[in-house]
Amino acid sequence: MSSHLIPTYAPPDLVFERGEGVWLYDANGEAWLDFIAGIAVDALGHCHPALVKALKDQADKLWHVSNMFKVPAREELARRYCENSFADLVFFTNSGTEAIEGALKAARKFHADKGDEGRIEIVTFQGAFHGRSYGAINAGGNPAYMKGFGPHMEGFTQIPFADEEAARAAITNKTAAVLIEPVQGEGGLRAAPDEYLRLLRTLCNETGALLIYDEIQCGAGRTGKMFAHEWSGALPDIMAVAKGVGGGFPLGAWLTTTEVGAHMVVGTHGSTYGGNPLAMQVGIALWDEMMKPGFLDHVTQMGQFLKQQMAGLADTYPDMIEDVRGKGLLCGIKLREPFVNREIMVRARDRGLLTGAAGDNVLRMAPPLIITEEHARKAIRILDEALAASR
Ligand SMILES: *Cc1c(COP(=O)(O)O)cnc(C)c1O
Repeated sequence: MSSHLIPTYAPPDLVFERGEGVWLYDANGEAWLDFIAGIAVDALGHCHPALVKALKDQADKLWHVSNMFKVPAREELARRYCENSFADLVFFTNSGTEAIEGALKAARKFHADKGDEGRIEIVTFQGAFHGRSYGAINAGGNPAYMKGFGPHMEGFTQIPFADEEAARAAITNKTAAVLIEPVQGEGGLRAAPDEYLRLLRTLCNETGALLIYDEIQCGAGRTGKMFAHEWSGALPDIMAVAKGVGGGFPLGAWLTTTEVGAHMVVGTHGSTYGGNPLAMQVGIALWDEMMKPGFLDHVTQMGQFLKQQMAGLADTYPDMIEDVRGKGLLCGIKLREPFVNREIMVRARDRGLLTGAAGDNVLRMAPPLIITEEHARKAIRILDEALAASR
């Protein structure tokens, strides 16, 4: 049967009917261990009871009124984000790309309002991924994502990731903002060293540039802190979040300080769906689960456990595995050529384990944050088999 879907994706011939915790099930009741979680989205696993309840309760009451009207839950979720982060103000979106767009607009507006309309330069990093809108593909700088879509936008400079000299040279008093993922997701799970984020903070302070973190993939508890940059202590001026903060319901946000956010006055930005009551209730329920004592420590422990297990694989297959990458439960293995991440991914899937592929020939894992050692052991056993079968 031919498909009526735009062919931007090529999914395998596999349909899941139901999900529960770390497991997905097809119509025959066969189970898959989900170590990719909808690309780091299903942070609490599938159909977490607290999220299901929040969504169902709200679905019976009110779905949508737009931003024309107040939604008290918006204030409630924004307060939670701000009480536990650098931020004072929040704008809610439906996706990560929209959060990035808002963040970039706010950065330029900040300088424009200071009389520096020409200060538009955004410094970004090789291997970055920030989404698929025009602004986001120009920020990401991946030529394959820009080809055929018209001229490149003005005002984006890309430098090597975690390169100190390049940062010192590129960040000047013409820079509007520096945009970085503290842990690169799509680019191959490279984590920026803590000192590097602190250096960027210093350079931004010295030049008056704003520091923007894209924590769309690495935030929401994934590294064992609510936001990945917390490990470094280097706070941003603006931060984009999405994916895990909605736990599977479309939700994103950009967060900022009063100093920056206050410039985005009535009429400067908007969204029809952003901050809708369904997303807000799910976002609140998810946040409260993650703030429960011990939740984030569990993520840290599981991240360490998985890393040890992956290091074990690297010892067994030194000819295949170059490196173990990532931070917390955003992690993976970089394969040596001629071995290919996607082939290992398919072999693992054939054996009941779902993983992902990232750039730089990395096999990516981003399991639900609720995994246990048993899940991790099982995943590693299957990867072991998949690697052995690929040798
Ligand atoms: C997924 C992702 C985006 C884009 O988010 P969408 O919800 O797909 O629009 C942006 N930045 C990073 C780091 C991401 O992982």
